[in-house]
Parts: sequence; C-alpha cells; structure tokens
Amino acid sequence: MARTYLKKATLTAQSGASDVHDIVQGILTDIEAGGDDKAREYAVKFDKYDGNIILTDEEIQAACDRVPEKLKQDIQFAHDNVRRFAEAQKGTVKDIEFEITPGLIAGQKAIPVDAAGCYVPGGRYSHIASAIMTVTTAKVAGCSHITATSPPRPGLGVAPAIVYAAHICGAHKIMALGGVQGVAAMTFGLFGLPKANILVGPGNQFVAEAKRILFGRVGIDMIAGPTDSLVLADKTADPHIVATDLVSQAEHGYNSPVWLVTDDVALAKDVMARVPVLIDDLPELNRENAFAAWRDYAEVIVCKDREDMAACSDEYAPEHLTVQAEDLDWWLGRLSCYGSLFLGEETTVSYGDKASGTNHVLPTSGAAGYTGGLSVHKYMKIVTWQRSTRDGSKRVAEATARISRLEGMEGHARAADVRLAKYFPNETFD
Ligand code: NAD
Repeated sequence: MARTYLKKATLTAQSGASDVHDIVQGILTDIEAGGDDKAREYAVKFDKYDGNIILTDEEIQAACDRVPEKLKQDIQFAHDNVRRFAEAQKGTVKDIEFEITPGLIAGQKAIPVDAAGCYVPGGRYSHIASAIMTVTTAKVAGCSHITATSPPRPGLGVAPAIVYAAHICGAHKIMALGGVQGVAAMTFGLFGLPKANILVGPGNQFVAEAKRILFGRVGIDMIAGPTDSLVLADKTADPHIVATDLVSQAEHGYNSPVWLVTDDVALAKDVMARVPVLIDDLPELNRENAFAAWRDYAEVIVCKDREDMAACSDEYAPEHLTVQAEDLDWWLGRLSCYGSLFLGEETTVSYGDKASGTNHVLPTSGAAGYTGGLSVHKYMKIVTWQRSTRDGSKRVAEATARISRLEGMEGHARAADVRLAKYFPNETFD
C-alpha cells in the first residue's frame, strides 16, 4: 500500500521565501550603512518603539520587580534544568593531547566564542523560555559577552519576564530590538555592543533569513525559523492527546506546520475530527494562528506499517518529533532525523519547549537532516594544535615536501626542505 494523504498542505516553509530575502537584505544594507540611528528607525517602523535600546540596570531591576514570585520560581526551575543539561553536554567535549607519530604531539582544545548574540522572539508571544535556552547555554559554554535581544512592545519595552529570565540566566546586556534590526545590531556591534561571534536563537522568517544572509560573517547556531512538529501515532495512541499535541504546536504561528503520520486510518480520522474543535476553544490570537496553520500547512499521512512511518518521518526531518506508539525503544533506535524527540504520551513537546531541560532552539524546515539543535557545543570552537621534536619533524617533512611538489606548491615544499636541511645537514632527501 502506498502512503495516503488524508490531508495535504497547500503551503510550505519555502512559500514566499524570495520576497522575505529581498526585504531582509534591504534592511541589513540600510542598517549597516546607517548604524544606530537606522536601527532605531526600524524599531519605530516595525514595533512602534522609540524608547531606550540597551536596558539600564534600573530598567532591568524595575522589570524584575514586576515579575510574580511564582513565575520567578518556575523560571528558576527551567533555568536549573537547562543549565544541568548543558553542563552534562559540556562534559562530553574533551581536550585531547597525544603523540600522533613518534615525536609529534597533536591536540584539540574546546574554546568558547567570546561574544554571543541571543535572539529571543517576542512578536506574537513572549518567548520567556527562549531567553532561558539561549542565555543559559551560552553562560555554561563560557562566553565572555552575552547579549540578549527581544522585540519591544509598543510603548512598553521588552516583556518583564523575558528581561528577568535573561538577567538571571547571565546576560551581560539586554536590548530592546526585534527582528532583523536586533540581529543586525548584534552582528555589526551597534549601540556599543561587541560584534557577535555567533548569533543564536529562534525567530520568525525575517529573523531566520537575516541569520542565513549573515552566516559566514558571523557564526550561527542553525536556521531556527517557524516551528514544525510531527506526531507518529499507532493504534494504541489516545486520539485526544494526539489532537491536543498537534494543536499545541500549530498555535506557534500561521505558518507552523504540524504533521500526523500513522498506520491506522481510524485514528487519523478521529484526530482530524477533534483538531478543529480544540482549535475553536483556544483564545482568539492562538485560535487564528492554529486555524491557519492547520488549514494551510498541516498534513495527515497514512503509512503501511511502522517502518514506513519511520521512513516518512525521517524524510520530513521535523524540528519536534513525538512518538505515541508501542515499543518506544524501537523508535528511539530507528529514527534518525529530528531536532528533539519526545517518546511516549507521558512527555510532550511543550515540556521541552518550556522547562524540562533539553534545548528548545531546534532546526526547522528540514534542517534536522544535517544538524541538531542549540547545545553548548554550538558556542564552542574545537581547535587543534601541534608541536614536534626535530626527529619527529623528519618523516613529516619528507612527506610534506613530496606531496606539496606533486600538487605544484613549491613554497609549501620549501618550508619542509628548510627544516630538513637545518636539522639533518649531513643527510640528503629526494
Ligand atoms: P519574532 O521576535 O521572531 O519577530 C518579531 C519581529 O519581526 C518584529 O520585531 C519585527 O521587527 C519583525 N517583523 C515583523 N513584520 C515584519 C516585516 N513585514 N518586515 C520585516 N520585519 C518584520 O517573533 P514572532 O513573529 O512571534 O515569531 C517567533 C517565531 O519563532 C515563530 O515563527 C515560532 O514558530 C518561532 N520559534 C521557533 C523555535 C525554534 O526552535 N525553531 C522556538 C520558539 C519559537
């Protein structure tokens, strides 16, 4: 049996991509030429904000004072989990040093980048958790300058809970600048900031495109644009939970795809009947987002068996992947393309999005085919070094000289020759 689409998307993440590219390129060029003033102009244009850009200590304190105590405890809980996970990841990167051939010692070191620019989205929702995910991980990596930037709300500035989260997680500077202008300010070193070595964090299509264009000039974690999520469910899955999980991810935005992949037609139809009812019950903004995402981007695919389901899922390479099916160990072993995997009904993408400790900044639009999500490693440079005794240099120099000459690189060959002549004056080499 071939795969059957009970629902097919009419739009994909690539829809409208060239328009977005031109808009973003124009803003970046403008800001690079016009500096701080031009970035401020875009803050007024897109976010109707003409307040302070780099928050002062007093502004940070005032924002922190406005956060309810219970929320502070929850932010601390999430921060502690993200920090513990990042510390465990950091423990997996080891400096090494060993004798690669007699007399020649080689090694690697993991060095944190100096300046990290953390983008914290805030257009539709106040993504408090993105501040926790990006800043905490940069701090654990050991970055010396961490800037967090987030869109200001008209006349109000950055949401107090985002300021609080960025502050307690370790941001050195907090900036009220959203979208392309926020990314540009960190890259070009505006408003007195150090130029970022790496830009991290999720964002809408404008933020994702800005990172894509600037990559090379500055490092990026990955393309983390509009969220996408796939649920793998077999006949044992609870249709109400599956439908609720799909809606929870469709609420991210009008362009956030959700996909259901199953081998059970009855389950698929049951879930499809429930989703619109659950969407209808959401608050207005969330309802609009989820409704459009379900209408235009969602897909429901019936596969012939679990092997076909797994193959189908790997083709989509979703950002979030949930398995609600029997034999979770089989799925964990079989699946290979996803940003973060949620195994079983007892966990859900929302846990990872907010508080369980794995990072929620994850590859979207199929990027999980070549990269994982934000981790402490993204902030670290794995560099190498070597040193040699004179005897250790001999065999390497001979090989280097011959390989270089065959390549036509005489200058390289002579850098080896000169050492052979100096260290072994009584020998001849061909
Ligand atoms: P955002 O902060 O990413 O974008 C808001 C900014 O967009 C504004 O400050 C404005 O400057 C800019 N903007 C708006 N309209 C514009 C236009 N027409 N031209 C140029 N710039 C414009 O917030 P958002 O829009 O709410 O998007 C957040 C995104 O982050 C969602 O798509 C969500 O799915 C995604 N997300 C992804 C992950 C992940 O790990 N992949 C995690 C959380 C959120």
